[in-house]
Amino acid sequence: MIKTKIIVTNGPSLRSARVLKYIVKNTDVIRFNFSHAKEFEILDAIDRIKKVSSELKKGIAILGDLSGPKIRIKGLSGFDHVEKGDEVNILYNKKEARNSAVGEKNIYLDYKLSENIKKNNIIFYGDGELKFAVKGTYGDRIVAKAMNSSTVKVDKGINVFGSRVNLAPPTEADLKFLKFAVKNDFDFIAVSFVKSPENIKKIRKITKDIDIISKIETREAVDNIDGIIKESDGIMVARGDLGLHVGIEKLPIVQQYLLKKCGEYRKPIIIATQLLSSMKDNPFPTRAEANDIANNILDKVDCVMLSNETAVGNYPIETVDTLKKIISNAEGFIENETDINRKDAGINSINVNKVNIAISVAAADIAGKFKTDCIFAPTQTGTTAKILSSLKSQSNVIALTNSLKVKNRLGIWYGVRVMPIDKYETTNQMIENVKEIAKKEGMRRFIIVSGTPNKLGTTDTLKYIEMEKNKKQ
Ligand code: PGA
Ligand code: MN
Repeated sequence: MIKTKIIVTNGPSLRSARVLKYIVKNTDVIRFNFSHAKEFEILDAIDRIKKVSSELKKGIAILGDLSGPKIRIKGLSGFDHVEKGDEVNILYNKKEARNSAVGEKNIYLDYKLSENIKKNNIIFYGDGELKFAVKGTYGDRIVAKAMNSSTVKVDKGINVFGSRVNLAPPTEADLKFLKFAVKNDFDFIAVSFVKSPENIKKIRKITKDIDIISKIETREAVDNIDGIIKESDGIMVARGDLGLHVGIEKLPIVQQYLLKKCGEYRKPIIIATQLLSSMKDNPFPTRAEANDIANNILDKVDCVMLSNETAVGNYPIETVDTLKKIISNAEGFIENETDINRKDAGINSINVNKVNIAISVAAADIAGKFKTDCIFAPTQTGTTAKILSSLKSQSNVIALTNSLKVKNRLGIWYGVRVMPIDKYETTNQMIENVKEIAKKEGMRRFIIVSGTPNKLGTTDTLKYIEMEKNKKQ
């Protein structure tokens, strides 16, 4: 079983029962992109997922991805394709069209971009398939020149390199989807274009116990990363938009920086976008894609995400299968490390300021040195399992809980599996219960990290257990 978690994006490619069954079996979280789907379509898909999930007795978490203040193309007039060198008008609303001559190419946005733009700014279309150089602004009209040839479609996003557009989540549309997510019991909300911790605080007031993932995709978010990580339950390196905002040549380094920051704060990091984009149309990945994924695994990221590969791709099963095989091989390569180490953000940068952290660090250390089969963490809130996961030890962490909510929320955390446990009143009873589970799982050597039964926040005990060989039946 692999330690790195997988998020897939829902879409038409997951509609067939055969594909959905495979996805539920083999991944941890299904993401709904609120920019593209309607509420009734999402509810219908969730229904089908829940059915498959209960048939297979395999849980899967649900993530809603808010579109945030992404500037989108709302209309086109006079064209659907540009050639390199073509001039276009970029406008806020259709009235502006009167000021442009017949035959001119007009792009209508859902945002008055002209106020934030200067001559020579670069405007990116989509993930960067097309670039425009700004020639000048005339009132609300931006005149820009295509730097390459491409088709142009309505609803695609645009980004500006070199301009700080003054927009932050939650938007009106986000607030509507947040209510929908709360009502329908989503496990995670991903917030696009987060700029500051305050954005997350606002959303937290509405979502209450839904876990919040901040999508890091602007320079402001990178600048405010400490505060944002502290307020979030995890972050996503949204490499598509981030690559455009920080410059593609800086993207790998920014990813390393974010990885280090998440290590410091012991929060999970999700790597997203273009992991296997060539597999949207091919049954086989590129060498560069295989390398990118494997390097992420060597960096011990918590979770990787597929977007259009599974939403609209032609090979969703092959894509997930390829991803799992690459993960499995890369994890196998680092399997024999005996120290707890997260590249750069190692044990020294972990702030051991609480007893439960100190005990977890000791457990992860012992697990590595003595090659235990796993670390068990009976938990009511998932906190101990999360601390153990954040240490990225080679030992699997098994969170013992009967809470479906806790189980689903652990769906993005590295190396954590969840199992149910029988009720217990005393520590001895709990240990006997854990021994039973270990016996069933064929485990001989393990650690239990626990606290006082049924008392929250009391993690204070580490127990190392080695079962006698001949007792195994
Ligand atoms: P998106 O986010 O797919 O919602 O744009 C991911 C990214 O920007 O990489
Ligand atoms: Mn994005």
